[in-house]
Amino acid sequence: MDTDCIFCKIAAGDLPAKKVYEDDQIMAFFDIHPKASVHLLVIPKKHIATLNDLNTTDSALISKLVLALPEIAKEQKLEGFRVVVNNGPGSGQIVYHLHFHILGGKQIPTF
Ligand code: 5GP
Ligand code: ZN
Repeated sequence: MDTDCIFCKIAAGDLPAKKVYEDDQIMAFFDIHPKASVHLLVIPKKHIATLNDLNTTDSALISKLVLALPEIAKEQKLEGFRVVVNNGPGSGQIVYHLHFHILGGKQIPTF
């Protein structure tokens, strides 16, 4: 855990979040500033700052997280959804704890 990281604090239960899924390794919760009618963030509980910081020992964790994305979207009754990962400087990443945005429902921004 990184003590300065808001997503580590959410993962530890030290900061509140509107959770929709949690197990021992991953968590999904609503984004506080939604950019679509359904906007979720899916995180590993382990502090990993960016995709660049992944290593092979994280393979099972990341596989599990990606496999959970459609299940979490299905729970929210989303037929289709967009997955976004902002990664590093210049990408729009603000929180340096790896997270996958799930955007769905109405108002999915186009790009
Ligand atoms: P990034 O720009 O790093 O890819 O996305 C960070 C996301 O985290 C933003 O969409 C922002 O609204 C969301 N966010 C930042 N702080 C909090 C928080 O304390 N709680 C929740 N639920 N979302 C947050
Ligand atoms: Zn963290």
